[in-house]
Amino acid sequence: MQALYEGKAKRLWATEDPQVLRMEFKNDATAFNGEKKAQFENKGRLNNTISTLIYGQLERAGIPTHFVKQIDDTNVLVKKVEIVMVEVIVRNVSAGSYCKRTGQPEGQTFSQPIIEFSLKSDELGDPLVNDDYIRELKLATPEEMAFLRASALRVNDFLSALFAQAGLRLIDFKLEFGRLASDPSVIVLADEISPDGCRLWDIATGEKMDKDRFRRDLGGVMEAYEEVLKRLQELS
Ligand code: UDP
Repeated sequence: MQALYEGKAKRLWATEDPQVLRMEFKNDATAFNGEKKAQFENKGRLNNTISTLIYGQLERAGIPTHFVKQIDDTNVLVKKVEIVMVEVIVRNVSAGSYCKRTGQPEGQTFSQPIIEFSLKSDELGDPLVNDDYIRELKLATPEEMAFLRASALRVNDFLSALFAQAGLRLIDFKLEFGRLASDPSVIVLADEISPDGCRLWDIATGEKMDKDRFRRDLGGVMEAYEEVLKRLQELS
């Protein structure tokens, strides 16, 4: 059997149900648009378990997602969606590209969250775009954009509170959304939510507990992911 889609960190497989896909988490890690690559034992399991735990909580909080159920350590079943080709990034504290673009130091707390959008295109290096670009590129309608913004803020409130209970500060994160194959008028949260796509700093020590450990060669990458999982599990 051939994967329907293979990305940098996951594969998507067909199932017997045409509306349901199997999403497999790989052990591959990439950064800087795929320029830096490595493999980490257990990464697939850790991200799958963290993402499943978070998706379960989001669903319980009434936030619709693609999640159906976990089937094993590295696989989940998800509703088939057509991915909206826009990455939605939410920032609470300055870091990463925000600092590069503005020359500001890392660690400044924003008065309100920043929401930004980039094209989901490895070829173009995920360029930053705004609502007008997205409308003209026909990637989402203005109504859908309003929904993405509102959803992203809701997810931010929910995740910030969840991670805070786990002693972690949610600095920024990336979300992806999809239109249900069974009803494209319905947009749900898709992709994974894990330390690969979130910046998380330990509230007590300020230590980075996310993919920046890999990006910046800080070491202890999987140990940090393991700690994030442990703290989330202790809450539930
Ligand atoms: N992010 C991601 N995938 C991307 C770009 C960003 O998961 O293709 C996440 C990243 O891990 C961070 C947040 O989105 O938590 C903001 O990333 P930023 O724009 O600062 O990009 P970076 O410079 O880190 O690539």
